[in-house]
Amino acid sequence: MLKAIACFFFLPVLAAHAHAEQIRGNWEVMGTYFSVTLLDTAPSRANDEILGAAFSVVDILDRQMSNYRPDSELSRVNDFAGRGQIQVQANLYEILLTSELFRASSAGAFDVTIGALVDAWGFYSPRTASIPEGGVIARALESVGEGRLKLRAAKRTVELKSGTRLDLGAVAKGYAVDRAIAVLRERGAAAAMVDLGGTVGVIGSKADGEPWSIGIRHPAGNGLIGKIRIARGAVSTSGNYERFFIQDGKRFSHLIDPRTGWPVAGVMSVTVVAPSATTADALSTAAYVRAPQDGIAWLGACDGVKAIAFYPADDDQIRVEFAGAGAEALFELSDADCFVKTESAGMPSSSGAKVTMGSRTTCAVGSVSPPATDQ
Ligand code: AMP
Ligand code: MG
Repeated sequence: MLKAIACFFFLPVLAAHAHAEQIRGNWEVMGTYFSVTLLDTAPSRANDEILGAAFSVVDILDRQMSNYRPDSELSRVNDFAGRGQIQVQANLYEILLTSELFRASSAGAFDVTIGALVDAWGFYSPRTASIPEGGVIARALESVGEGRLKLRAAKRTVELKSGTRLDLGAVAKGYAVDRAIAVLRERGAAAAMVDLGGTVGVIGSKADGEPWSIGIRHPAGNGLIGKIRIARGAVSTSGNYERFFIQDGKRFSHLIDPRTGWPVAGVMSVTVVAPSATTADALSTAAYVRAPQDGIAWLGACDGVKAIAFYPADDDQIRVEFAGAGAEALFELSDADCFVKTESAGMPSSSGAKVTMGSRTTCAVGSVSPPATDQ
């Protein structure tokens, strides 16, 4: 822990407001950058302590939930596949339970049992990623999906069927942002922005009284395609530009449809704004996977969720789709005239967030409460 805290540094950022400063800590964790911006309302030692506590919780989660670390708790669970139940800590149990809810609410588009497929496509080491040979996809598919992961609350155990491997890459960043925000709140921070590799959570307003401004990356370029301004909640983007390879002139991205075993094509990115970062993260992945077939209008039925999706269109244009009441006003696009717009399918948006997709789903997953920890 001491070593971890020693590797961050602070950047006092001069804010627009004459008398207030924003303090920022920057680190590297979970294979990406992590930054916390805090209103400077406490004595400087207290600020240091608050920032350090936010980093610590994310660092602990990384050590626990990474499948790039052979000694993580998640790796131990994966290595135990096919050998019965294994007890896990409350954090891991909670994220798996939540992930199972999102698997159901996305009709199987979001599925943390996807590890063997991600591995088959080579996305754990992007340099070797390529279209798998022959029956490799079919074999990996057998270890993915409903029933491969069993959770038992009584003893907080996880059981994986033989060959199944968990991958929390689509939800762990969001979960970590929520936990960092919870730590900041507990320590009295009234206003803060937490950014973990582009999954962002905010509380309160900036020093100048304005909401936090969060850029949305252009899915086909280097800059931003727009921004949103929020004073609470979270935002997450899933995009085909993050990890991908090109083969035979086609792009294959790291976002895989667990139902077909193939990387999803026909969508560029989906950005979701939600009450919690866990929800935003999971739903952006789920919506990305479903977008080419179902669009994203179904997201508008989830409580407090707004989203935007970008699709490739003819003549190098980008087609835009919105979901959720007020989404068009929330997502401020830089060159709104350049886009082909899709009319939203007008799903209900305020009815308690129940929507059926197929025969058995709801997206009524509330914000995730901090677990009773035993880290
Ligand atoms: P995100 O950027 O949050 O959408 O997460 C993408 C990562 O989640 C990928 O790099 C994979 O490790 C994993 N993943 C890919 N496809 C899925 C899926 N359909 N459901 C859950 N996790 C996925
Ligand atoms: Mg995600």
